[in-house]
Amino acid sequence: MTDPVFSPDTRLVHGGVARSQFAETAEALFLTSGFVYESAEEAEATFAGTVSHYQYSRFGNPTLSMLEERLALLEGAEVCRVTATGMAAVHAALLAPLRSGDRVVASRALFGSCHWIVSTLLPRYGIETEFVDGTDLGAWRAALARPASLVLVETPSNPMLEIIDLPAVAAVAHTAGAIVVVDNVFATPLLQKPLAFGADVVVYSATKHFDGQGRVLGGAVLGRKEWMEGTLQPFLRNTGGTLSPFNGWVLLKGLETLSLRVRAAGETAARIADFLAGRAEVERVWYPFRADHPQERLARAQMQGGGTVVSFAVRGGKAAAFAAMNALRLIAISNNLGDAKSLATHPATTTHMRIGEAERARLGITDAVIRLSVGLEDAADLEADLARALVAGWAERAAA
Ligand SMILES: *Cc1c(COP(=O)(O)O)cnc(C)c1O
Repeated sequence: MTDPVFSPDTRLVHGGVARSQFAETAEALFLTSGFVYESAEEAEATFAGTVSHYQYSRFGNPTLSMLEERLALLEGAEVCRVTATGMAAVHAALLAPLRSGDRVVASRALFGSCHWIVSTLLPRYGIETEFVDGTDLGAWRAALARPASLVLVETPSNPMLEIIDLPAVAAVAHTAGAIVVVDNVFATPLLQKPLAFGADVVVYSATKHFDGQGRVLGGAVLGRKEWMEGTLQPFLRNTGGTLSPFNGWVLLKGLETLSLRVRAAGETAARIADFLAGRAEVERVWYPFRADHPQERLARAQMQGGGTVVSFAVRGGKAAAFAAMNALRLIAISNNLGDAKSLATHPATTTHMRIGEAERARLGITDAVIRLSVGLEDAADLEADLARALVAGWAERAAA
């Protein structure tokens, strides 16, 4: 079922299926570390690469191959490799191609651990790194006036939902000699296809929407065959950031409902963004497809939907934000996202605590900001929960 005429929804259910000799309906779970050979000659030929045969699950596994094929079909990428976590994917996509003396330019608005890799880890290996305001094309042009090896961006960004102009940044990056790596977690492959806008490599935390039900960690790297097999795969198979076949099987089942979940949660998120914007307790709302988002036109040009995350600032700062979060009964306080359950987090004191106050100020992550990952609950129930919470936050502000 890998015929390219099938639509994404169909690919999410059937893509990559490789049935075993037992002709099972659901994808088989090959929970095995190794594989056996018919003969010493077959083992020799397998290692020599003249025969195609699974060797060891750190290198490849039939359940993971199904997942990789399905994700590649969905993304429209030549090859996909799955990894143990989203950070294993980002780490491999950066460390596999980079060498001491190389230069990396990244948008400042990155997931906390991605920010740490660029700001702290890469410089330890003699790699020069520079952050720019991802929304400022002039800053990209200035930073990329000198040659660079790699550009890393996240769009929409976490948690302020900044949008980066992918075709424009990719063009400038390529002129500087850099490959473009896009962290596409917030959009998912259903709402944004970075490769079509000039990106070279796309990375995901599969922990988020791919699983979408809060069960397993996982990651994925997608790109062209030559780069994936020549650059990424030797790094991955020898450093060991491999996904467990069991987690891969859970992700395969998660993908079957990805489209339904992203669509439903996205509709609710858009409705909740409007609801929050109408509340007196809320100072500002960020949602890519709202008319008051500073980059709404760009978001609509490169995304098929506004996504499942809404960020908002309450009046009354940290005390009001904490009081509101503590008053939530349905929405849970958790730093995960893309889950069927709606989750609220306070980025300044959790996910973005380690980047420091100055960097948070540059990114607009104030103590009043709450990030809401919208799940699959009834929209009216979520609104009622938020209304009650905002009233509690308002009372806290009045008391302060
Ligand atoms: C969660 C996340 C990651 C890291 O993924 P893990 O699966 O937690 O390792 C990277 N980038 C973004 C944008 C994320 O949201």
